[in-house]
Amino acid sequence: MISKKSYSLTAVPMGHSNAYLLTAGGSAVLVDTGCPGKINKLESALRENGLDFPDLGLVILTHTHYDHAGCLAEIKERSGAKVLVHEAEAGCLEKGYTPFPKGTMWFSRIISGLANSLFAFRAKYVPVKPDIVINKEYDLGYYLPGTKARVIPTPGHTEGSVSVVLGNEEVVVGDTLFNDFPKTVFPPFANDEKQLFRSWEKLAETSCATFYPGHGGALSIEKLADSYRKLSKRV
Ligand SMILES: [Zn+2]
Ligand SMILES: [Zn+2]
Repeated sequence: MISKKSYSLTAVPMGHSNAYLLTAGGSAVLVDTGCPGKINKLESALRENGLDFPDLGLVILTHTHYDHAGCLAEIKERSGAKVLVHEAEAGCLEKGYTPFPKGTMWFSRIISGLANSLFAFRAKYVPVKPDIVINKEYDLGYYLPGTKARVIPTPGHTEGSVSVVLGNEEVVVGDTLFNDFPKTVFPPFANDEKQLFRSWEKLAETSCATFYPGHGGALSIEKLADSYRKLSKRV
């Protein structure tokens, strides 16, 4: 757990993806909801922070892949929290299915092909009707009082991908950055690589130093800058 002046951020591993619990001024916000069936991990994290489900005021989805929307329906039911999603993926969320993005590397092209055919059933999750549908920056002052927190669109991995910027300190980025590999933060899957690099530029412009991805641990602006230098010429 990392504590900062105006808020606290707790990473909650929920299967092979991370959710993040943000608290400020007695309010709690969850970013992403992990893989299906992992709600007990969140329950423990809430308890460790002296919280329970009804304390959650808002759930933000960085995007709607099953490994980020997996426990959403159950969390919404137990907490009554509002659900925020980008308009490009609101329809997917209401259907409970979001196709896998294109592979960006040889092995992930194979995985992507299989995921959208033979294993499409595994990408399904319980559908949810969102409460807040955005198509531009969204201020989180109401849900995280006393912080300069906001949601910004960061498309590329998927069209409706968003990130949560916490002042000029930290950003929760979903799958816009991957930290599963030692030398790169490039996601193995992305629908639009060009858009993805524009989103990386947006992340760098926040002046934040630390980024919290959907897969793997926190990473520094230096690692992002290094991957950008090496890879942005590929598009
Ligand atoms: Zn994803
Ligand atoms: Zn993911």
